[in-house]
Amino acid sequence: MDSVENFRIHFEHAPFSMQLLSPSGKTLAVNRAWKALWKIPEDIIQNYILKEYNVGSDPQLDLKGIGEVIRRGLTGEVVEIPPILYVPQETGISGDPKWVTGFMYPIKDKTGKLVEVVLTHQDITAKTIAEQALKKSRDELQTALNARDEFISICSHELKTPITSIKLQFQLAEKMLNDGDERVASKENLTKRIITTNRQLDRMTRLIDEMLDITRINTGKLQMEKKSINLKDLLEESLSRFTTQLEIAGIETTTDFPEGNWNVTGDRFRLEQVISNIITNTLKYGEGNPFVVRLRQRENFVRMEFSDRGIGIRPEDTERIFNRFERVTSATNISGMGLGLFISRQIVLAHNGRIWAEDNKPRGTTFVVEIPLS
Ligand code: ADP
Repeated sequence: MDSVENFRIHFEHAPFSMQLLSPSGKTLAVNRAWKALWKIPEDIIQNYILKEYNVGSDPQLDLKGIGEVIRRGLTGEVVEIPPILYVPQETGISGDPKWVTGFMYPIKDKTGKLVEVVLTHQDITAKTIAEQALKKSRDELQTALNARDEFISICSHELKTPITSIKLQFQLAEKMLNDGDERVASKENLTKRIITTNRQLDRMTRLIDEMLDITRINTGKLQMEKKSINLKDLLEESLSRFTTQLEIAGIETTTDFPEGNWNVTGDRFRLEQVISNIITNTLKYGEGNPFVVRLRQRENFVRMEFSDRGIGIRPEDTERIFNRFERVTSATNISGMGLGLFISRQIVLAHNGRIWAEDNKPRGTTFVVEIPLS
């Protein structure tokens, strides 16, 4: 057996994919493992791969950044081919897409002249897919960790503001006491301090409740205890709780509650939370302008409408504000974590209802909440 024949046998039975090339890039032969790897039909191998195909000018290899390496290999250099996903269809032939790496080795004659080049392929598809899946889950984990860090950072910042304000009140009182300033015990001074402290404590309680609700939503534990409720009564009750604050903010509130059936099945505490959140936002973003609350029946829904004449929301932002942490106000002095409306929407959805915001022309916003009639 001469050495050429010997080589052919080894080539054919090698346990890995091999392609024998001429220095001009033409394919002279492919072995069994090559056929098993690429699953390219025999007639295509005979009529295209072995006749027309040229590895040195395959556009797919250039597109995937390894054309240059291949051409170096064709000059007789030993080269390692970096991983690529080769898709036979992109070259216009049928076969299986594969992630491969490989080597090119020169075969030279006795005088050192390059006669052929061997191209080997190693199938790394399974490994690459497993690595990609691992990377994806690592990226997802990182995104979740970033979101958690952002959450902690926003919460801490928001909680610190009321604490600083309360601390200031008490530092001031302490200083007055130390200085023997009698005014510290005056009714006026104490009342002012109590009002401010209470307001900041309410704010902190609201923030902590929002944080707890977010955790409940994330773990699917935001449960509703549904009973029959009259939404007109609930609206009146909620509004009365805000009478003083609305007055202090100079907001004139009008209600338009006609006679009708306002009964829904819902969680009283949670629906009040939705209403309170909208009223709180009116206090924050309503700019002291008039506020109108209406009750209407629309098909099988009780509709509550809350219209303010405040800073308004651009029409393109009216959906975004219902996302977690989404704030569209440029007024950075107005506190909030951008969670209230997100939580409100989850509550309304748990009642099979709808909530959305509309741009009020010429100014302000209308929030609409619809809950199915009992
Ligand atoms: P927060 O008020 O705590 O930031 P919300 O989820 O309640 O969070 O509201 C999200 C954002 O929607 C607010 O930051 C604000 O930009 C906008 N927004 C809510 N209500 C109003 C309103 N009545 N007028 C103008 N903008 C509003």
